Amino acid sequence: MNDQRRNAPPDSGSPAGTGSRPPRRRFSGRSWLITLVLVIIFDLLFYLPAMNTSNAGPQVTLSYSTFLAQVRANNIATAQIATDTATGNFRKPFHTANNTTNFTRYSTTLLPITDPTLVPLLEQQGVQITGQSTATPLWLTVLTLALQALPLLFLVGLFYFGARMARTQQQGVFGFGQSRAKVYTEERPNTTFADVAGVESAKAELQEEVDFLRDPGKYRRLGARIPKGVLLVGPPGTGKTLLARAVAGEARVPFFSISATEFVEMFVGVGASRVRDLFAKAKASSPSIVFVDEIDAIGARRGAGPLGGGNDEREQTLNQLLVSMDGFEPNEAVIVLAATNRPELLDPALLRPGRFDRQVVVDLPDRKGREAILRIHTRHIPLDPSLNLSAIAQSTPGMSGADLANLANEAALAAGRRGANTVTQADFDQALDRITLGAPGAALMNEEERRTVAYHEGGHALVALFLPGVDPVHRVTITPRGRSLGVTQFRPIDDRRNYRRTFLLDRMAVGLGGRSSEEVACEEITTGAQNDLQEVTRVARSMVTQLGMADELGPEYYGGSSDSALDGRRYAPWEPKEYSDETARRIDEAVHRLIEEAHQRARDIISAHRAALDAIATTLMREESLDGERLRSIVN
Ligand code: ADP
Ligand code: MG
Ligand code: ZN
Repeated sequence: MNDQRRNAPPDSGSPAGTGSRPPRRRFSGRSWLITLVLVIIFDLLFYLPAMNTSNAGPQVTLSYSTFLAQVRANNIATAQIATDTATGNFRKPFHTANNTTNFTRYSTTLLPITDPTLVPLLEQQGVQITGQSTATPLWLTVLTLALQALPLLFLVGLFYFGARMARTQQQGVFGFGQSRAKVYTEERPNTTFADVAGVESAKAELQEEVDFLRDPGKYRRLGARIPKGVLLVGPPGTGKTLLARAVAGEARVPFFSISATEFVEMFVGVGASRVRDLFAKAKASSPSIVFVDEIDAIGARRGAGPLGGGNDEREQTLNQLLVSMDGFEPNEAVIVLAATNRPELLDPALLRPGRFDRQVVVDLPDRKGREAILRIHTRHIPLDPSLNLSAIAQSTPGMSGADLANLANEAALAAGRRGANTVTQADFDQALDRITLGAPGAALMNEEERRTVAYHEGGHALVALFLPGVDPVHRVTITPRGRSLGVTQFRPIDDRRNYRRTFLLDRMAVGLGGRSSEEVACEEITTGAQNDLQEVTRVARSMVTQLGMADELGPEYYGGSSDSALDGRRYAPWEPKEYSDETARRIDEAVHRLIEEAHQRARDIISAHRAALDAIATTLMREESLDGERLRSIVN
């Protein structure tokens, strides 16, 4: 059905495949010029009546009094009287005191109140009086209307023009589709599994695909059905694209890749034809790999998404993909890999047997994985012998492979800026700060601001010191970073994946430590706590609605995406609420209670250790930055 559409443009005249056609432009430059001239002419016509040329000669504008005086002096010959003006000829030329022009004509504005003596006076002086109709002549009315409609006409013209442009472009793209221009890339990557670390189980699962591609016959002889579609699922930057290339590299087969996001921008029919091209080529080069990156862009479930529903292009492309996958002959060894970080959005049709029926999870690396990834990305960087990659791996929980690659590069850049020959621990620390906190800003100058920030950060640190359930404080500084004025950093002891209730409660208290300290030690509270409040509220809400940790509501799940509990992701705004208004009210109350309790705990700790807080704040104001050791020694 798309074929028909693609071939529809009567294009046989131009050589097939070039995609060029004579431009068909209605609004050429000349026609716009004509329109412009017309506008100007209209304008002239419009102003013509105002220039009233019936009686030539210089005309003076008189005040009403002067006009009356001239009538009385018998110097007015004629008067054409309209609603609010009178014009006419003098008997003798008139000139003013400071102007030598001899005016033969005058005009004056009549009074807004009717002057009953005017007409008798004019008659008495023998002035020839004519009335002037004020009704606007028909041609003028029409013209005025036409002029008023001009902007509208202009807009309509613009739309028309725009639509034509779009159509021309679309046809251009159709031409492109016919020309079978390549949109995918074809290569033979030399990436191998040795270039990917921290995702050992994914590598083990994909090894089977590699073996199959190396020797398809071996599996076929055994009658095994090798999955044709493998979906790589995991957060951004964990190495999904890298892994797909590594599979091709390991198997030494051609790798055809295409990013699904590109289809979304295309016109109907083009995406599907490109998918067809891609698969035709991959089959011809079998054994081979087809890789569809970010497949959720076309593979999203219908109606899942703010604009859910009809995106023709997306659906056609998706259908073509499914048809192409179903159409493999048993002797065609083509494996389709696809990557997504939103598997929950995918259309179930994609996950049916014979399609992407195998999912390989590519997760964020653990500590050992991070160390291995750092080793890969520092292979070509001269490292200082004292550098401890495993310590760096420990202080980078939650970072993806891409983050770590970036970290290694930033560290090398930092060493380069120093003019050094090797990269040191300090370079890594600096790079890590830069990545996680943003670039350092100018030091705080205002003494009162420094004091407030010192107490705010000191408050976080103090509460953390007295709540052993949370991660230990790594460092406190009052040097502005990114958009924050000060920072309290924690050093996680291990990679946690499972958090106890008390950990969350303590974390909320630490989060409110800054604001509480301002309340206790400063004259007034400040705006500095906004992020803290946001964070604390998010934790509290997750505890209530997703983690079943509020007694009032019990172990029930009220919505939100399950993994948004502890990372920064927000609810999908279109996700429907599945509880009553009454429950919504109770949720709000429970959230409020959790936050209030955390607030109270923070305040209690700060009030009980006021002297320690003062000591921390004073030292911070003097030294700008304190590490965990120093902090603990001050408090003891
Ligand atoms: P994804 O496709 O999952 O978003 P990519 O494969 O595009 O992630 O990763 C981007 C870059 O990050 C890679 O080119 C590689 O340099 C680095 N990287 C990511 N994950 C890993 C990993 N597990 N091992 C080594 N390098 C990685
Ligand atoms: Mg990718
Ligand atoms: Zn804070």
